Amino acid sequence: MPVSRIFGEKEFWGLSFYINEYCLDPRPETETLIEAILKATPNKKTPLNIVDFGTGSGCILISLLHEFPNARGIGVDISPDALEVAHHNAQALDVINRVTFVCSDWGKALPQENQFDIIVSNPPYIESDVILTLDKEVSHFDPSLALDGGKKGLNTYEILIPQIKFFLKQGGKAFFEIGKGQEADILRLVEKTHATLRALHPDLAGIVRGVEISCGDK
Ligand code: GLN
Repeated sequence: MPVSRIFGEKEFWGLSFYINEYCLDPRPETETLIEAILKATPNKKTPLNIVDFGTGSGCILISLLHEFPNARGIGVDISPDALEVAHHNAQALDVINRVTFVCSDWGKALPQENQFDIIVSNPPYIESDVILTLDKEVSHFDPSLALDGGKKGLNTYEILIPQIKFFLKQGGKAFFEIGKGQEADILRLVEKTHATLRALHPDLAGIVRGVEISCGDK
């Protein structure tokens, strides 16, 4: 069992997150998304409106709210149990007054308005067949809902990428974590929806982990 699961605690972006069996164990490579968003938004006072799809423990959204003291955010997850974890973390890490949690199958329960400056997500992106071949630390302890991206690992991007245009404000950007080598598939999906792939963000090992997407000419 991973140490973080024994202690029910994991550090992410220098903050300590409570975790349990209902959420993904936050990964250091996911910090690439936070770095990419900081790079794209140099003014930390910007009153960003952020949505985090598949918030899990809430680690991405809560870390962003720490970096951007005037930002507000919505954490979306289909699992009410994961949302309880995220709620706990938002309270413990003192951002509860700037966050709302919504139980939803991706964007379904959100109003389709162009309301967000930032869309962020670390969706499940592992190919279904590959999950059982992963280390036991992963396959036995991370919820499969948080890992399983379908046959090619792309199911969630096929849902999320076309939704970008409904949710982003003018000038807004979407940041997604991707699996190793998925960038060509992501580019194809982005081009299908007339969005633009603005940048690829490698992690510390040089693997492309983050994609930065804007919507058409917005
Ligand atoms: N957003 C959470 C994280 O990055 C959960 C992601 C997921 O469950 N796929 O850790």
